[in-house]
Amino acid sequence: MSMSCFEVLDPCFSRLFVSTARLDLLYTGCRWAEGPAYFPAGRYLVWSDIPNDRMLRYDECSGMVSVFRHPCGHSNGNTVDRAGRLVTCEHGGRRVSRTEVDGTVVSLVDSFNGRRLNSPNDIVERSDGSLWFTDPVYGVESDYMGVKGEIEQPGNFVYRIDPRDGRLKVVADDFVQPNGLAFSPDESLLYIVDTGRSHRVDGPQHIRKFRVGDDGRLKFLGLFATSTAGFFDGLRVDDAGRIWTSAGDGVHCYDTDGTLLGKIKVPEVVANVCFGGPRRNYLYICGTTSLYGIRLPVQGVKTF
Ligand code: MG
Repeated sequence: MSMSCFEVLDPCFSRLFVSTARLDLLYTGCRWAEGPAYFPAGRYLVWSDIPNDRMLRYDECSGMVSVFRHPCGHSNGNTVDRAGRLVTCEHGGRRVSRTEVDGTVVSLVDSFNGRRLNSPNDIVERSDGSLWFTDPVYGVESDYMGVKGEIEQPGNFVYRIDPRDGRLKVVADDFVQPNGLAFSPDESLLYIVDTGRSHRVDGPQHIRKFRVGDDGRLKFLGLFATSTAGFFDGLRVDDAGRIWTSAGDGVHCYDTDGTLLGKIKVPEVVANVCFGGPRRNYLYICGTTSLYGIRLPVQGVKTF
């Protein structure tokens, strides 16, 4: 008999799960699963298996998994934009690409100030059509997570792609290794992970909180949370504004005030999560070699 995977750290967490719910193992056989993105129109999930340079697709109706794209520029984070198109961070291509409705893959950005990007990691769209992504160095350090190459940028920035002219702007330049990012339900706040601990023993492994200005600028509001187990990587927000973030021992759930409410324990290191299902109440979990999922009584914030 499998045991409950939920760990309650604050009494509030008790109403955020059903005690009989179990973690579903949906697929195993990846080297490093990342970048889950749910397509409601097709009821499937696309995610990245970075070292294997492929994207996989999980069909929610049949339970079948197939290769979606290979090679794929060592894709990492993905999102589905408001028009239903797949937007992808590519380590190998050092770019952000978009798959058009006719299937063509186009490059949205691959350089800033005449220098190549490092290795775009994760991306999110705001409802005004702007795309926000992080650019740490993980994809150019070796041939494991991407393609080894020169770092050309003077820093590891967070960028915004303007929806009108496609221009790139730096919105944060003081991260060590910026990683996952997610907007609050009203999009007035942006949460951004820094995984700088990977490069410095005293480096950050935390989430920072920013106010998003109408002009597209960010104002730093403070530290939101520091990981108590390994790294935060990718994260998502539910419709009440709570944060569901990947961590070393599973998925951690934080209240809007930064209180760690509880955990979904996963038997592998988790890199990213994504709400899916027709009612956005199924949490997909990318955990190292496997794709997991779990049904919750809460819904992801509505982006589709
Ligand atoms: Mg990431």
